[in-house]
Amino acid sequence: MPRFRAILDTMPAYKAGKAVVSPDGRSYKLSSNESPYEPLPSVVEAVAKAATEIHRYPDPAATGLTNALAERYGVPPEHVALGGGSVAVAQQLFETVGEPGAEVVYAWRSFEAYPLLADLAGTTSVRVPLAGESHDLDAMAEAITPRTRMVLVCNPNNPTGTAVHSAELEAFLDRVPEDVLVILDEAYREYVRDADVPDGLTHYRSRPNVAVLRTFSKAYGLAGLRVGYLIADEPVASAVRKTMVPFAVSHLAQAAAVASLAAEDELLERVEAVVKERTRVRESLIGQGWEVPVTEANFVWLRLGERTTAFAEACAAEGVAVRPFAGEGARISIGSPDANDTFLAVAEAFRKA
Ligand code: PMP
Repeated sequence: MPRFRAILDTMPAYKAGKAVVSPDGRSYKLSSNESPYEPLPSVVEAVAKAATEIHRYPDPAATGLTNALAERYGVPPEHVALGGGSVAVAQQLFETVGEPGAEVVYAWRSFEAYPLLADLAGTTSVRVPLAGESHDLDAMAEAITPRTRMVLVCNPNNPTGTAVHSAELEAFLDRVPEDVLVILDEAYREYVRDADVPDGLTHYRSRPNVAVLRTFSKAYGLAGLRVGYLIADEPVASAVRKTMVPFAVSHLAQAAAVASLAAEDELLERVEAVVKERTRVRESLIGQGWEVPVTEANFVWLRLGERTTAFAEACAAEGVAVRPFAGEGARISIGSPDANDTFLAVAEAFRKA
């Protein structure tokens, strides 16, 4: 029997949201915070065109995409680092700072991959409980020690959908030592509508230890192609580029991401429609008697405690896949109006039962 790293014995596997099918054949996947829309024809066309080159390795520096992102955000190309999805960029970040004895601070519950990536990088996770459903930035600042190398603020937070506000984030950043890297994980940034939720790029521009992590998987609808990026000061971005597996962002992913930036207006109209549905879903749930935290992302969070598994099963019986966290609650992505209606009907029946 080959010998493996001891950490693998205790490390849980990443649980991805799965699709389910009802006995009469219906399926609504509200478990992975994907875009409910099919890809734009212009994006499919760009991918098809790029497909003629798949016998070649992709441009390892993804020059076209890097330049397009730099232009889009008004930053130097040296400040952009890419990876195969933002989860891969997060892994690169953990690899960049992780070593025995080093600590990484993040809220919990938050994005499920953080503890796994910390374990893989041989680094210590310091999990700071949420206050209610939101980040407790005071407690997070207090959790920083001389061993802390990185702090992650997931904004909006997966799975609760809550967001930190400008003044509290500013006060928090003032308390973080300059040699600690702060990652603002903004996977859901495009869905934020509260003007008091800061754009992480503002903080990146004024603080060299602050970096912003974003993705093409959600608002841009490219979850299947795996492309995410970090915007950070040059030393951080170049360290993260060094930890990338060579050729991690495929030729097809690069082409699709460039085409998506070119079609951004159209994609952001879709985001607007999802945001409208989000309001409708949340208000309907509240009307049914549920408590639903304010969400700035493309999902809602229901704290169900012991009833979580039963709720997920009730949804599955109607073909609705949600993301349960046993004993805690369920995260439900905003889907097409039809999918949302089906979910709302299950939620209402469950509430009355
Ligand atoms: N960060 C957060 C907060 C997420 O919720 C997710 C996806 N669930 C990711 C990063 C990673 O997404 P991707 O790898 O598809 O970019």
